Amino acid sequence: MYYDVAVLGCGWAGINASYILSMSGHSVICIEKDARPGGLLKTELINGFTIDTGGSHIIFSRDKAILDKLLNDFLKGNYISHNRYTYVSLNKTLVPYPFENGLYVLSREERADALINFIEALLSLDENWVPRNLKEWIYGFFGKWIADKYLVPYNEKLWKRPLEEIDVDWVYTPGRLPFPDWREIVKSAVGLPTMGYSEQAKFYYPLRGGIQALFNSVYEETIKNGGVFVTSTRIEKIKQINGEFVIKVKDKQIKTKRIINTVPLPELISILKEQYIELDTRDFDYNKVLVVAVALNKQAPNQHWIYTPGEDTVFHRYIWMSNYSPYNAPTGKSLLITETTIPGHTKVTSEDIEKYTSRTLEDLEKIDVIKPGEVLFVKTWLQEYGYPIHRVSLTKTREKVIMELKKYNIITIGRWGKWKYLNMDMVLKDVMLELNQIHG
Ligand SMILES: Cc1cc2nc3c(=O)[nH]c(=O)nc-3n(C[C@H](O)[C@H](O)[C@H](O)COP(=O)(O)OP(=O)(O)OC[C@H]3O[C@@H](n4cnc5c(N)ncnc54)[C@H](O)[C@@H]3O)c2cc1C
Repeated sequence: MYYDVAVLGCGWAGINASYILSMSGHSVICIEKDARPGGLLKTELINGFTIDTGGSHIIFSRDKAILDKLLNDFLKGNYISHNRYTYVSLNKTLVPYPFENGLYVLSREERADALINFIEALLSLDENWVPRNLKEWIYGFFGKWIADKYLVPYNEKLWKRPLEEIDVDWVYTPGRLPFPDWREIVKSAVGLPTMGYSEQAKFYYPLRGGIQALFNSVYEETIKNGGVFVTSTRIEKIKQINGEFVIKVKDKQIKTKRIINTVPLPELISILKEQYIELDTRDFDYNKVLVVAVALNKQAPNQHWIYTPGEDTVFHRYIWMSNYSPYNAPTGKSLLITETTIPGHTKVTSEDIEKYTSRTLEDLEKIDVIKPGEVLFVKTWLQEYGYPIHRVSLTKTREKVIMELKKYNIITIGRWGKWKYLNMDMVLKDVMLELNQIHG
């Protein structure tokens, strides 16, 4: 069986690659290890609750053309828009997010400390200074108070690594104005509400069908174009013979001239190892993410999500998913999910998952978000690949691997194929850019 292109992995990157290629008349096969495609964008319907099993996903983008594509070309109007109501929980006080803009809810003493430290950081900023890691970026741009109270504990909780080991290329662009805007911080420190980070101040979400509705819309079009999908098939071996790739898919062999990869780079490299590629994958570090869904017999407060940097909770964020769409929970009930990261190298057993789930419920009670009698059911999912970690040494290794793969006619895309902290909009952009290079 011959296909013009084989796409490895059918998550968001894989489906968009398959769609674009099928639209331009290529025969495409997309091969997925899970029983159904979707990757991090899967949704399950349980007892009337619509649950996004890869964590909370909202639709937003700085790029208007991409946003329009997501909402109108893909979702075809099946979406709802929201003004963001998000907070950082600081010792049970909910500080409006972004934190530096929400200082106005804090005590006068706290606001003064935050502002003094921020100004101290600003005064010592040299315009040629480039932060070498995430820790330097946080202290350098936000000052000690905001760093110590929120940004450092939150990022340590999310990344589970010393912040000196994490790069800043995903938050900081050299030459761009220091972030955040000092005028906004002064206003919020003197007690005036400010908005900040307007990119996400309004966000979108599928009205019906959870986040998987976005994936499904592209999937259905690809099927119409003749795209072929094979599920429950983990790619384990690929050979290159006379310029053609041979991939074992179930009990058959398929042949193709071109591979588009979306599976995690270290996995791809190990699939190809026997054939020809031996590359060092130690820099490809990541976190798993554990998603606990709690269905509740009460209405949700008027909030979207809350960051929880404190040690009193195992999770770093909880999200009122029933506020994303009125169809996410039956009337009068609500749906909350929590997200907890676990280092990629940690082995997680089913007992561990049970412990995490119980701890999550205890912590939600402790911070007065739920009461025991309100819980209807609880369900937990562990996503093996949640967050790629931009280690300071990653950039060079990543470029080397991508260039090496290109030599063999393998284009690698997406959050795991690029090993970059990319959201859906950026993944779509990445796919469009890379595929443009194939067919001009
Ligand atoms: C907790 C969380 C919250 C997020 N929130 C947002 C948000 O609010 N907004 C936003 O825009 N983005 C968000 N994102 C990012 C978004 O999920 C990603 O950008 C996007 O889903 C990445 O798609 P992908 O195809 O690159 O990866 P994936 O979805 O991981 O797809 C990779 C696919 O490859 C398959 N695979 C792996 N190995 C093999 C193998 N050997 N053989 C066959 N198949 C294989 C996997 O099963 C999977 O289906 C969030 C991510 C997380 C983890």
